[in-house]
Amino acid sequence: MKLNLLKIILLVLILLGTVTINQADEGMLPLSEIHKLDLKALGFSLDSKALYNPNGVSLIDGIINLSGCTASFVSPDGLILTNYHCAFPAIQRVTTKEQDFMKNGFTALDKSKELVAKGYTVRMIDFYKDVSKEVLSSVKKRMNYEQRTKAIEKKIKKIVVKIEKKYPGKRAEVAEMFIGKTYVLFVYVYIKDVRLVYSPPRSIGEYGGEEDNWMWPRHTGDFTFMRAYVAPDGSSAEYSKKNIPFRPKKYLQVAADGVKEEDFVFVLGYPGRTFRHRTSHFFNYEEKIKKPYIVDLYGSMIEIYEKISKKDRTTEIKLSSALKRLWNVMKKYKGQLKAFNNLKLTDKKRADEKALQTFIDGDKKLKKKYGNILGNIGNLYEEKTKDAPYDFFLSYFTRSSVLLSNAYRVYDASIERKKKDTERSSAYMDRNFSRTKRYMMMGLRNFTPEADKITFKKMLINAVKLKGKYSILPIQKIINKKGVDTEKAIDEFIKTVYSQSKFHEKEYLTNMLFKSTKELNKINTPLLNLVKELYPIYKKQKAKYKQQKGKLDKLLANLIEVKQKFKGTSFIPDANSTLRLTYGHIRGYSPADAVVYTPFTTLTGLIEKNTSSRPFIAGEKLIDLYQKKDFGRFTLPSKNDVPVNILYSTDTTGGNSGSPVLNAKGELIGLNFDRVFEATINDYGWAESYSRSIGVDIRYILWFLEKYGKAGHLLKEMNL
Ligand code: ASP
Repeated sequence: MKLNLLKIILLVLILLGTVTINQADEGMLPLSEIHKLDLKALGFSLDSKALYNPNGVSLIDGIINLSGCTASFVSPDGLILTNYHCAFPAIQRVTTKEQDFMKNGFTALDKSKELVAKGYTVRMIDFYKDVSKEVLSSVKKRMNYEQRTKAIEKKIKKIVVKIEKKYPGKRAEVAEMFIGKTYVLFVYVYIKDVRLVYSPPRSIGEYGGEEDNWMWPRHTGDFTFMRAYVAPDGSSAEYSKKNIPFRPKKYLQVAADGVKEEDFVFVLGYPGRTFRHRTSHFFNYEEKIKKPYIVDLYGSMIEIYEKISKKDRTTEIKLSSALKRLWNVMKKYKGQLKAFNNLKLTDKKRADEKALQTFIDGDKKLKKKYGNILGNIGNLYEEKTKDAPYDFFLSYFTRSSVLLSNAYRVYDASIERKKKDTERSSAYMDRNFSRTKRYMMMGLRNFTPEADKITFKKMLINAVKLKGKYSILPIQKIINKKGVDTEKAIDEFIKTVYSQSKFHEKEYLTNMLFKSTKELNKINTPLLNLVKELYPIYKKQKAKYKQQKGKLDKLLANLIEVKQKFKGTSFIPDANSTLRLTYGHIRGYSPADAVVYTPFTTLTGLIEKNTSSRPFIAGEKLIDLYQKKDFGRFTLPSKNDVPVNILYSTDTTGGNSGSPVLNAKGELIGLNFDRVFEATINDYGWAESYSRSIGVDIRYILWFLEKYGKAGHLLKEMNL
C-alpha cells in the first residue's frame, strides 16, 4: 500500500516534470568516450580510472573476448564465466553418445579434469591507438573505387603484421569505427589454451530452447565456466599439459546479494555489429530483400537438418551446433522484420534524410560537396537489389556443403598463398592460416553426408532459377544434359561427387592443402572441376564487392561529416566487435497493448513452465530442490524465491553474449545472454521503450553451483 502511494507520487512528479528518471542512453560507448562521461551523475559509484585506466589496472582488464563472445575473469586463477551458448561448440566437440556432456552437463572436480576447448581463444585489450591518418594515407586521388578498397585493406594488413612482429604473442586488429573515416588499432593479449570447467546440462543451459529464445519471460541457465592457460613462463601457448592457469591483472568480484528493480547496472562487452548510421536504402535492402531470403533459406535448412537429426543420437550431436546457429539467426531476423514493419523504421529514416537533404540544399557550399550523397547511395542499392538473388546464391553456395567448401578453400588457398602475405585474403595470411586449417579440420567432425548432400542439391536447384546474365554456366553445364531432366541430372552429379570425393577425410584434406594450383589443376574430379570453373566467377564477384565497398565507404564517410554539421553533435560509432560500455537499469517494459513485463523471473516460474519434455525439462533434481524450498542463501528477498533471469535497459547486441552485468560498484550481478523479441531491431534503431537485454541473475548461477551442481569448489574459488 505504502509502496503504491510512493509510486503514484513519483508518477505525478514525473508528469509535472519536477523529477526525471535516469533513463538509459543509446550508445555502445568506445573506450575513448569513457573519460568524457559524468559517471556519478549517470549512477556509477566508480570513477573513470577504476573503470578504464590505460596506465594501470582497471575493470576492463577483467573483461575478455572469447572467440567472438564476451566473458570475464572471476578468479585469480583465470576462471572464466561466459554463456552456455557461447561454450556450446566446445561442449559439443567433447560430447559423444557414450559421454553425453550435453545431456548430463560437465563438471571438472579439479584442474586436471578440465577439457580442452578446441579452437577457443581469449583476447584482452593491451592498448589501442587511432591510426586513421596512417590508414587513409594509402588512398591516392587517381585510384578507382576497387583500388581504394584494396589500398586500405593492404595498409591495415601491413600495420597489423608490423605490430605483431613488434609484440610477439600479441594479436593486433584494426577496427573501422566510422566507415571509410576512422580506424583504431587494438593490440590484444592473446591466449590460445582455453579449457572447459563446468557446464549445466543442456536442458538447463538452454531451458525453453528456441521457443523461448529472444523472449521474455525467460528461465534459462545460460552459463558455463572455462579457464585460460598459458605457458609456465606466462607467455601465450597452444595447449600443453605443462601449461599453468593464467593470472589475470584483474578479476571481477561477484556480488552474491544481486540486484533489485530500478538498480543501476552497466555492461562491458564486445558487441558485434549494428547498422544505425546506414541509410534508408540499406534498411530497405535488409528488410525487403536480404532478411526474407535468409529466413527462407535457413527455414528450409532447419527442416532438412531436423529430420536427419532424428536418425540417431550421434547424428543429432553432429548437427546440433549448426541447427542452433540457424535457429538463432532465423528467429532474430523474424523479430527484426516484425519490428521494421511495426515501427516503420525505413520510413522514419527516409523522413530524416529528407530533412538532411533540405539542409544540404539550403547552402550552396554544402550542396556542392554533399548534394548527391544520398542519391548516389540510393543508386548503389538499386544495383545491389537487382543483383541480390545472384549475389546471395554465390555467397551461400560454397558454404552449403562441407565437401564443396573444403574443395573451394583448398583451391583458393593454392592461389592466395602464392601472393605476398599482405596481398592475400585475410584467412590465408601467415598470421591466420594455421587457424583457418584448424577450423577446416574441426568442421570434419560434424560432417553428416545426408545433410550435406541434401543442402548441396537444394542449392543446385536454386541455381536453376538464375537466368540470363545471372545464369551460372558451370552449374548449367551439370544440369543441362540432353535428354535428362534437371533433377535427375543433379542427382547423378551429387551421387558421383559423394561417392568419389574425399574432402571430408582429414588426411586427404591435409595433403591437398599442400598442393600447388598446378597440381590441383591436374586432378580431374567432378567436384574440383566445378570449383575450378566457378573460381573466375567468384573472383569477379570479389572485385565487384570491393568496387561497391570503395564507393560506399567514401559516401558514408561524407554522410557522417554532413550529418554532424546538421545535428551539431558527434555520434557514437556503430558496434564493430570492439570493447564498449553501455548502462541502464533493472527495468521491465511493455511489449504490447495491455501487456506489462516485470524484470525478474524465478524458480517458481521455471517449475511452472516444466512439461518434462523438450524444451522445458526442469529435471527431477531441480524439481526436488524446489519442492523442498531449498533456496539457501542466494535469493530474491522480495519474492522469497531464487531469481533466475533479469531484464535491463542497456544497449547490447550479438557479441555481448557472455558480458558481465555489473552494479554501480562494478561487481558482477548477472550474465548477459540475449535480448527480447522487440529489441532485436536495436541493431538498426535503439529506444528505451523496447530495448531490453536479458541476463542470468548471478544468484541463480551461485544457487545452482551450490545446491544442484556439486561445484562448491568453484564458489570457493570465487571467494564465496
Ligand atoms: N543471444 C544473442 C546472440 O545470439 C545476444 C544478443 O544478440 O543480444 O548473439
